Amino acid sequence: MDADIVIIGSGMGGATLAAALAPTGRRIVILERGQHLRASRLDRDAAAIFGEGVFRPDEAWLDGRDQPFSPGNYYNVGGNSKFYGAALIRYRSSDFGAVKHPGGSTPGWPISYGDLEADYQAAEEMYQVRGCEPDRVYRRA
Ligand SMILES: Cc1cc2nc3c(=O)[nH]c(=O)nc-3n(C[C@H](O)[C@H](O)[C@H](O)COP(=O)(O)OP(=O)(O)OC[C@H]3O[C@@H](n4cnc5c(N)ncnc54)[C@H](O)[C@@H]3O)c2cc1C
Repeated sequence: MDADIVIIGSGMGGATLAAALAPTGRRIVILERGQHLRASRLDRDAAAIFGEGVFRPDEAWLDGRDQPFSPGNYYNVGGNSKFYGAALIRYRSSDFGAVKHPGGSTPGWPISYGDLEADYQAAEEMYQVRGCEPDRVYRRA
């Protein structure tokens, strides 16, 4: 199969990228390692999904002390967006700077909120959601 652009992974990132590039007319292929989720009585059952982890892959990662844990990643068409909480909020300006948390600190991003604002706006219009950056005024999507 010929393609101009190959995107690996059909999650929120890959699918959003494909949607943004589609109007260019380029031939886009998305490679996805997982299968389509099949409709079942469990796919709307929060206890089964989050309590029993029936859709979680049987894999273990190692933490900083070499102890295994389940990372809670899902490998299927749509990626983690098939199970996520559907709250699409923007980071605040202050989130891009150095932040001290009780459990440690983050050094800050090499880009600012302003660098991403137009992309946040475009994404919110595509997903038909509104963000929550308190010091900004939003255009209606
Ligand atoms: C339970 C839960 C609730 C969440 N709630 C929220 C929320 O409310 N709001 C929010 O903003 N975020 C939320 N998140 C986080 C959000 O879902 C993720 O940050 C987001 O979906 C990540 O998108 P992604 O495209 O980067 O990765 P993913 O969605 O993980 O997609 C990656 C895709 O790539 C595929 N893949 C991986 N390796 C390969 C390979 N080698 N070849 C081919 N395909 C491959 C995977 O199968 C997967 O489909 C939540 C996550 C979880 C698990």
